[in-house]
Amino acid sequence: AARVGVLALQGDFREHAAVLTGLGADVSLIRRPSELTGLDGLVLPGGESSVMDKLARSFDLAGPLREAITAGLPVYGTCAGLILLADRILDGIAGQQSLGGLDVSVRRNAFGSQLDSFETDLSIPVLGDPPVHAVFIRAPVVEAAGPAVTPLASLPDGRMVAVEQGNLLGTSFHPEVTGDTRFHAYFLDKVERSR
Ligand code: GLN
Repeated sequence: AARVGVLALQGDFREHAAVLTGLGADVSLIRRPSELTGLDGLVLPGGESSVMDKLARSFDLAGPLREAITAGLPVYGTCAGLILLADRILDGIAGQQSLGGLDVSVRRNAFGSQLDSFETDLSIPVLGDPPVHAVFIRAPVVEAAGPAVTPLASLPDGRMVAVEQGNLLGTSFHPEVTGDTRFHAYFLDKVERSR
């Protein structure tokens, strides 16, 4: 089975671990650099990106995570995890850093207070029918993307909320909380192809 790590510093890593285990992956929770060894893929969960950034740096994980991403490890980030994967963060807290890898500008908390959290159905061609029920929780959006980035889903107003670039996948929303496993299965296909 593919060995998939879930960054477990903060956030909804348990939900991701449960979905991935259900799909047959050999899942481990990642809290220290040595635990990155031997992984075939990695998930960065939802939560609070500024907190994950601080914890990753204080646990000396940020450098090894950047190296793994640069080396081509397949990584899937949801919500805060997408922010961590972005090369550029808009509306980050002072001094907030990302790991980077995705050539995108991501705006944190992109929906005003009225739309802090909402759910909507998104048509996502690479996943087929039916549409994906997408849960947005203080979600970011991808405001700009470089030429290597493929948009997978957008809101009706055109803002991108799911993107991929090579082995990297990011969604503004949280498939791990809906019971729809298609995004995780799509990621595990990437992992299998790169093993
Ligand atoms: N607003 C959070 C952040 O900036 C993301 C929210 C989430 O992951 N649900 O990291």
